Amino acid sequence: MNFIPPFNLSEQYKWIGGDVDAAVLRVLASGYYIGGSLVDDFERQFADYIGTADCMACNSCTDALLLALRSIDIQAGDEVITTPFTFFSTAEVISTLGAVPVFVDIDPQTFNIDLNQIEAAITDRTKAILPVHLFGQPVNMTHLMDIAQSHKLWVIEDCAQATGATWAGAKVGSIGHIGCFSFYPTKNLGACGDGGAVTTNDTTIAAKIRMLRDHGQRQRYVYEEIGINSRLDALQAAILQVKMRHLDTWNEQRRAIASRYHQFLSPIPGIVVPEAIDGGDSVWHQYTIRIPAPTHNPTHYRDQIRQELKQRGVGSMIYYPIPLHLQPIYASTHHLGQFPAAEQMAIEVLSLPMFPELPPDQQEQVVYALKDSLMME
Ligand SMILES: *Cc1c(COP(=O)(O)O)cnc(C)c1O
Repeated sequence: MNFIPPFNLSEQYKWIGGDVDAAVLRVLASGYYIGGSLVDDFERQFADYIGTADCMACNSCTDALLLALRSIDIQAGDEVITTPFTFFSTAEVISTLGAVPVFVDIDPQTFNIDLNQIEAAITDRTKAILPVHLFGQPVNMTHLMDIAQSHKLWVIEDCAQATGATWAGAKVGSIGHIGCFSFYPTKNLGACGDGGAVTTNDTTIAAKIRMLRDHGQRQRYVYEEIGINSRLDALQAAILQVKMRHLDTWNEQRRAIASRYHQFLSPIPGIVVPEAIDGGDSVWHQYTIRIPAPTHNPTHYRDQIRQELKQRGVGSMIYYPIPLHLQPIYASTHHLGQFPAAEQMAIEVLSLPMFPELPPDQQEQVVYALKDSLMME
């Protein structure tokens, strides 16, 4: 029996390796490795794809988020509302600036920030809301922008897991004031190394981000601010241009896999499958089920299922085992029980194998293994 990994990048390389190799060799021969037309072209293509006026490529989504916060002048003491159920960088960059991440619990149905709890968290120090489109599922941006507008707050979308996802027909990253993307290899559009981008329709913000990512210079060797060095390499830009041509197809394949999972898994008792929400079109970065613990075995139940799955040749992942408010760095100002939905999801979630090339027979193997594992416990 072959092992089914949670994701598989070499399978993708088998399909597009020829084009990737040719693009890489062209860059190597060109002698232009930093900046240049390949990066400019990629920025143009990505802005067009997302539907924004501007795109600034950079080294990672972590940098994209940091640049976004700095471009709207987030300072020490400012508050930024976000979710405790996300990858660490979402909150980390807020703290990097001395600002305060103000967590709001999640909606267990979408795993995203609970829009109905945002207003209670707004104070006169709140400057921005930083929603995350987790697992590729878009936040209800119509509702979120209404809240932001009525309180005059900035909105920065963390789109790291949602490249290509739409809300009400618009791509995420084009709805808030600023969108931040990751091209980390396992993301829906992944480079062969680190990469990220910021999207916006605001020309002032775009110019500021261009300056900040380049040591705070607008004009060569004239430094107006303390910036950072955050670039997308020409090699990565060339690879991303090749991969962008396939992104919509890959996202469609992910959707087909998700609907097959849904068909097979929704009748199974003892698990909760993710449901698409009206208005949003997920790109299924992850297919994440919930395994609520039975009362006779409340702790470690999900972890036992995960072990059983592994023994049956199926890899799975836990995103995320510890919500951010309970992380050592934030625990002193927060407490267990503060965000019950996020805490519950951390105990229940299990992400099943999900990558565009996952064949139907292997998907069935995942389903059978999961059924068997649930019977064992
Ligand atoms: C991956 C990820 C990031 C960070 O992206 P990098 O490019 O690795 O810096 C930020 N937020 C979320 C939600 C992510 O999944």
